[in-house]
Amino acid sequence: MSDCLFCRIIASEIPASIVYETDLVLAFRDINPVAPVHVLVIPKQHYTDIVELADADQALAAAVMGAIAEVARLEGVAETGFRASFNTGAGGGQTVFHAHAHVMGGRRLSLSLG
Ligand code: 5GP
Ligand code: ZN
Repeated sequence: MSDCLFCRIIASEIPASIVYETDLVLAFRDINPVAPVHVLVIPKQHYTDIVELADADQALAAAVMGAIAEVARLEGVAETGFRASFNTGAGGGQTVFHAHAHVMGGRRLSLSLG
């Protein structure tokens, strides 16, 4: 998907601060962090959102989950606590339509969903 921002990051056409990478997934810092730790975890295969991803490829969905855990460990928030969220669809606050998890931590997060 040449017009997809995150596919362009995967293709190294747009720079990103990469935190973790496997053959299946990529994790990089959000350009507009809302917490001291704010990393996006994405599958390298393009899926619009987590519903499409889970329906199409459960192994890849599991790889995203594993990468969330690994990023939390690498960023030092696995013990202190963090939030992983998948904004899904415009009504869910999604603005980039390539499935991604936000991994946020490093400060006390409120219950507010915004
Ligand atoms: P969404 O609103 O779709 O759940 O999240 C998209 C996220 O992508 C936002 O938090 C936004 O700050 C981040 N983002 C948008 N453009 C870029 C970019 O060019 N580079 C990086 N690293 N993050 C981006
Ligand atoms: Zn994409």
